[in-house]
Amino acid sequence: MTDGQSFYFILVVFYLMECVKFAPPGSQALVCHLGKFGACSLRQPVTTAWGLKKSVFLAPLLPWPSALYLAPGYAPEQTPATTIARVSSIRHHQRFLRKATQPLRALAVLNLLNFFALLPAVYVRTYDERSILWTLAYCYASLIATAIHYHRLHRRLLPREQADRFKTTLYTALLPWHAPRAADLILLKGSLRWSPLAALAANAKNPAILKQLQYHWRAAHFHPKPRFPQAALATAFREAGLDPSDWLAKPKELDGPQYCPCCHSGYEKQATRCSDCDGVELQPA
Ligand SMILES: [Zn+2]
Repeated sequence: MTDGQSFYFILVVFYLMECVKFAPPGSQALVCHLGKFGACSLRQPVTTAWGLKKSVFLAPLLPWPSALYLAPGYAPEQTPATTIARVSSIRHHQRFLRKATQPLRALAVLNLLNFFALLPAVYVRTYDERSILWTLAYCYASLIATAIHYHRLHRRLLPREQADRFKTTLYTALLPWHAPRAADLILLKGSLRWSPLAALAANAKNPAILKQLQYHWRAAHFHPKPRFPQAALATAFREAGLDPSDWLAKPKELDGPQYCPCCHSGYEKQATRCSDCDGVELQPA
């Protein structure tokens, strides 16, 4: 391996490490494709970092056009006072975050192209020390411009997090693998204020999320310890324009003589309770 290849190998490894995101335990991630909120796809954690008590997610590998948000895993009684609880407020907040981070995401793409395309191209094509040094100076100038913009944006959106701002601005100015992911921090921190239930309801156009909301609705009726109370679910559904009136009906396709009214799994005759839903009583098909 040449020096250049080793340098890029390390750059890629560090960049991939930047794509790993930590969130409070029990969180789910929402991946917004092409800036379209409302039909975000769900992303489950790849693992749990037990030592840190965090769920670990893998963000989309490019800083644009997809974006990662979080539906935090708070229990209703732990929900902080700053939570954005209404579906319409979450939609509004997401639009605000997307708009505010647009220039930062454009700079992210520029930094990615500078370090992963322009610099190696100049190196391979010219082998000229002077040209390489000028390109490197330009690449670092764009990093510093990104850091200045990031600092201003962070101060506007997260005014109280001064320690975090100082650290991440420094990383953005100095580390070519960090700068392309600088916008992630703001989007993730911003979305951690969303109520998990309302964030899911705002994205009910996605079939997997709709299925999960239907499960929570049945759990609120049949499960001994549902994650969300019935009243909170009803409010979120009303706000999102969802009608749950037929969500408690029998599943259309049954794969056993009995079924669990909560998760809709089929069971044989000998079983009496669902093994996945804390012993919910089975119903005849
Ligand atoms: Zn079940």
